[in-house]
Formats: sequence, structure tokens, C-alpha cells
Amino acid sequence: MTGTPHPTCRHCGTSLEMTLVDLGLSPLANSYVDPARADTPDPVYPLHARVCTRCWLVQVEDAVPAEEIFSTDYAYFSSFSDSWLAHCREYVDQMVGRFDLGSDDLVIEIASNDGYLLQYFVEKGMPVLGIEPSGNVAAAAQEKGVRTLVDYFGERLARKLAKIEKPPALIASANVLAHVPDINDFVAGIATLLTGDAVYTVEFPHLLNLIKSVQFDTIYHEHYSYLSLLAVEKIFAKAGLRVFDVEELTTHGGSLRVFACLEGASHTDGPGLAKVRADEAAAQFDRPEGYMNFTGQVEAVRDGLLAFLHEATARGDTIAAYGAAAKGNTLLNYAGIGPELISYCVDRNPAKQNTLLPGSHIPVHGVEALRERPPDYVLILPWNIRDEVTGQLADLKTHGTRFATAVPEVRIS
Ligand SMILES: [Zn+2]
Repeated sequence: MTGTPHPTCRHCGTSLEMTLVDLGLSPLANSYVDPARADTPDPVYPLHARVCTRCWLVQVEDAVPAEEIFSTDYAYFSSFSDSWLAHCREYVDQMVGRFDLGSDDLVIEIASNDGYLLQYFVEKGMPVLGIEPSGNVAAAAQEKGVRTLVDYFGERLARKLAKIEKPPALIASANVLAHVPDINDFVAGIATLLTGDAVYTVEFPHLLNLIKSVQFDTIYHEHYSYLSLLAVEKIFAKAGLRVFDVEELTTHGGSLRVFACLEGASHTDGPGLAKVRADEAAAQFDRPEGYMNFTGQVEAVRDGLLAFLHEATARGDTIAAYGAAAKGNTLLNYAGIGPELISYCVDRNPAKQNTLLPGSHIPVHGVEALRERPPDYVLILPWNIRDEVTGQLADLKTHGTRFATAVPEVRIS
């Protein structure tokens, strides 16, 4: 870093001098490569997670021009997993009950995708407004009766909505807060839209799980912030918001759902708040000690995986990977793993098949490739769905195939 000034915190502007982990140069995680372009090197960008020692926001710098991120085919349809939809339906029932929402209460969702969540409020006869930047995804929402505005959310849009819409009783967002480069503008927009006792709920992967389970493969360029309750409370307070409850969820390897309201609203603190605050205090999230051992743990995961792959290939065993996801790409590129160690990767998504993984250039096939020539090992890259995948591929066991995950250490079954 000689001669390069440290980047500054996206929340408080403090110089970021502490490293959580430096993953080196990495291509964009979702930029799958056309095999015809296999010989062209992929553009790579620094992937360096740092800790702000003033507000404790963990973040990666904006190393990638925004147009690069948005020019990759980022359209994403949420309505694909039954377990995710069940999670959404349960959320809707819980919110309607807890906050006594009725047919006059407007619900706004930010990054509403194809209406996967708001559809359940519509079912209850409640007015909704989705905000979704991707036009084709928003069109899918409109088709299922979910009123959707195509735009990016921030203070500018919030001011406009405050003039033309009735004040929402509930604002929801899942898995967007960590992905906005200007987190202050986003949170200021929420504060602009809230009135009285209206509630904002937001879900994000919990930094506590990332650190405890060495989930460094959830770090990628489009994921700007790695959030603790500690940092979120500070960021929200600056915008006039108060956190009054927290729930711990199992999604994405362990997430938080934070409940916030205006500072002066009447909500009293829920039981989850003290518990998660205490967990983070025990993890020393308010001092450098909470973060300084992470790099060594990441190196141990990398070395363990490389040792396993080298030993297996030295025996003549074949290894395929399952799941061409962002997670896997961070892991493979950081560890420098290519087709010489993992012959191919399979994915259920047809859009990813017949491409090469960014950086590692491991070819991606359909899942049937595993059955045509069963490998000795399947390395499941999205470790969070290990049980689901081993269940789907249980028949491969009769051919002697074994299943492996790499995080937080190599586990074989
Ligand atoms: Zn900061």
C-alpha cells in the first residue's frame, strides 16, 4: 500500500487503516465468461475488506466502476426457492399480526424484485409499492398485481414519494442494505419516508457469522458492507432512526432482521436487541481485537482446501464443483484454483451453463454432467445448502462419489 492513500469509510469518512482480509485481485463474481473469450484475461479489481475503527463498519472499497457492475447481467429473479417463499409468507403474517396492519396500511419494499414478498401483502388486500431498479424484473412483478416503480432508492426518490404517496406503515428490505454503495443516502431515504410509529425492517447477513465461521467467500465487489448490529445502530442513529428489535435468522449462513423506527416513536425494545448486542460485545466488535485474527483463519481455510485438492488429484481422483455462485468464485480465485484441480462445475441455472467461471475459467455444465461421469468428489461451493445438495445428488453415492465443503474447514461425507 506504499504511496496509496487509504480509502475512507463510506459511513463516517474515517481513513480505513485496518484490514479484515485482503483477497487480492479478483474478477467480478457474476461475470461468467463466454468460452470463445477464454484466452482474454478477465478484468480484475482489488477485493480488500477493511474495518472502520470509528464506526466499525466493515466494507470493501468501490474499486469497480458502477457501470461495470450494472452492465453485467445482474437481473435476478427471487421467486425460485420454495424455502425462501415460505420465509417471506411467514414474515408477512408476523408483521400483520405484530403491528396490526390492515387494508389501509401501505407497505413499501425496496429492491422488491419480481414481487416475491409483496404478493403476500396483496393477497391480504393491502396496498403495496415495490421499488425495483431492473425494468424486466419489475414487469414480472406488475404482472402478478404488485404495483412497482422502476427506480433506485435513496433520499431523492424518498422526497418525491413523500409528496405523492400516503405515508407507509411498513417499509421492508431484504438483502439490499449491504449492496448499496451510498449507505448514508439509502438510510436517509428511509428516515424521510417514515412517520409516526411506522416501522422499517431490514435483513442482512450478520458479520458475527461471517467472522465466526470464516465465511470470507461471501465477500465480493458488489457486496459493499458487512454489517454488525453495532455499525447499523450507529448508521441509523445518524439518520434519526432507532433500532428497537432484532431477530436472528438462518438465511444466508446467519442473518439479522433489524426493526427500526423514528427516534421518537413509541416502540419499546424487544428481547432480541440486548441478546445480539451482548453477542457482539463478547466478540469484541467494538475494538480491533474482534477483527485482527480473521486473515490468519482465512489463510488456514485456503491452505486446507489446497492440501485436500492436491492430495486427491495426486491419487488420480477427479473433483467437480457444484454451484456457480458468487461465493465459489471468491474462494476459487483467492486460492488460485483452476481446471487443473477442479475439472468442471455444475449449476442448475441454464444461463450459467456452457460458460466459464470468472477468473478460474473452470467450465460450467448442467447437473447431468455429474451423472454421465460421476467424479470421486463433488465440492459444494454454496456450503449453506450442503444438505439440500447432498440430498438431490444422493444417487451418486452408489458410484462412490463423496461430497465436500471447504468453509470453515474441509468436511467430507
Ligand atoms: Zn466509519
